[in-house]
Amino acid sequence: MPETKNNNIFLVGLMGSGKTTIGRQLAKRLGKRFVDSDHEIEARTGASIPLIFDIEGEASFRRREAEVIRDLSSQRGIVLATGGGAVLDAGTRARLAERGTVIYLRAHVNSILARTAHDKNRPLLRTPDPRRTLELLTAQREPLYREVAHLIIDTGRPNVQSMVQTILEQLAALARKSAYASMTSLPLASPFTLNVDLGERSYPIAIGPGLLDDADLVVRHVNGRQVAIVTNTTVAPLYLEKVAAPLRAAGRDVLEIILPDGEVYKTWESLMRIFDAMLAHKCDRKTTVVALGGGVIGDMAGFAAASYMRGVPFVQIPTTLLAQVDSSVGGKTGLNHPLGKNMIGAFYQPRAVLADTATLATLPARELAAGLAEVIKHGAILDAEFFDWLEVNMPALVARDPVALAHAIARSCEIKADVVRRDEREGGLRAVLNFGHTFGHAIEAGLGYGNWLHGEAVGCGMVMAADLSQRLGQIDAVQAARVKALVAAAGLPVTAPDLGTARWLELMEVDKKNEGGAIRFILLKPLGSPSIGPASDADLLATLDACIAR
Ligand code: NAD
Ligand code: MG
Repeated sequence: MPETKNNNIFLVGLMGSGKTTIGRQLAKRLGKRFVDSDHEIEARTGASIPLIFDIEGEASFRRREAEVIRDLSSQRGIVLATGGGAVLDAGTRARLAERGTVIYLRAHVNSILARTAHDKNRPLLRTPDPRRTLELLTAQREPLYREVAHLIIDTGRPNVQSMVQTILEQLAALARKSAYASMTSLPLASPFTLNVDLGERSYPIAIGPGLLDDADLVVRHVNGRQVAIVTNTTVAPLYLEKVAAPLRAAGRDVLEIILPDGEVYKTWESLMRIFDAMLAHKCDRKTTVVALGGGVIGDMAGFAAASYMRGVPFVQIPTTLLAQVDSSVGGKTGLNHPLGKNMIGAFYQPRAVLADTATLATLPARELAAGLAEVIKHGAILDAEFFDWLEVNMPALVARDPVALAHAIARSCEIKADVVRRDEREGGLRAVLNFGHTFGHAIEAGLGYGNWLHGEAVGCGMVMAADLSQRLGQIDAVQAARVKALVAAAGLPVTAPDLGTARWLELMEVDKKNEGGAIRFILLKPLGSPSIGPASDADLLATLDACIAR
């Protein structure tokens, strides 16, 4: 259960709406203390509520009530049932809204009448026409209940248990929404900065729209007299000037290295072109290498920085969603060998990552979806709440809503950075980031690299890994279906290509993460947490059978 504001819950609503009954149960379920303002007033005065009304009048009762609520609401960890008229006091309303989560229990006049029929403790209903009185009270107080409430719950449920369950679900949804608001307001107002904590290799990741328009920010993070910006023919016309101009204006000697675009150029030859240019330009060992582009540029420029003069400073300016949520975090750099992808490389951490979310505006839709696959992966294996959030917000992400994107990128980087901090060199935990990748790599290799984007293959691979997790009894059918639905909502494929069973098995066995013969699958147990282990041939074949298009 997520934390509520000040850990308090305040119930408001008309008399007879069930505040005390529901409040007691709710407190029990949440492990909080239940208090009732009417009971507290009676305890303090030693008189019953009707007696206080008779002797002192309503105005005096309201004063006592406001005082009691002021005292109680300054505590923490309580569920407080307030009197029906407590909200008449403006000070009380302000206090309630500020010091806890306010729930308005809204009841229909008929059900209140039924519930209060034999209750002598309701001074305001001692009238000739209680229905009329209740209608008037509703008209007067309804706007005040609404004004103060964070949640409105209709009390028409068959029993208290199901009412309480509904409230718990709504509270959880509210907490998610406010966590979202507090995270996303930051990157919008100012860049959101996250620190990757790796001792002396720690570095900041700045995330936000328009970062590259902030000349100071770029200049501040790119040190040294000489700067080599590595980019490609697609990204250069879009963003190179934005990065180079402020550096030149600040007196830096800027070398631009523009490589051809594409994974097929993530090669030794391209690396040599970077070295050739830097050596010809007499770049010294204090030169900062800046990667401006997607993961291909980031990986190659990073490896160049790791090895040029045995290592020079490196800054990442990722411009694809995949690079912003995945490849720019974690320090893996490298290139492809004709005999295998990413086979040559080094671990080398950047000095800083500047992720300008505005650059995603020009990204092709397929590339955006490919990045979303890695975002979904982070939720599926390590953060069930983030996964829930993604289910609600996937349409906004696909529509490139800047607030939603900034949140998804920030949370993804946080999750990946945390894994990297705990296991920088992939000794163990970091392997969980390969969720969906054993199946995905088989798809990429089986169809020939470049037919499906990596993220597309990973998307489908996660659906397959979820299916396998279900067969092993680690998640239920609903969770498996949720993974599939979310991958589909991102615009990614969910049906695997038919490579032939024998070829499928052969391809998965060459996955480089295998050890000692048996494939170690990254699976879910349950949704939101990973498990690593083998699967029987029978289960694996059943998953292939269920997921392959025929
Ligand atoms: P990519 O770098 O090929 O970029 C995809 C395409 O988008 C390219 O054509 C690129 O020129 C273009 N592009 C980039 N930014 C753009 C923008 N803002 N507007 C318009 N077009 C833009 O691919 P990617 O998906 O970013 O990265 C994939 C690579 O990353 C693979 O080589 C993979 O091995 C590597 N990778 C590395 C890590 C790591 O930890 N180092 C992790 C995941 C992936
Ligand atoms: Mg990946």
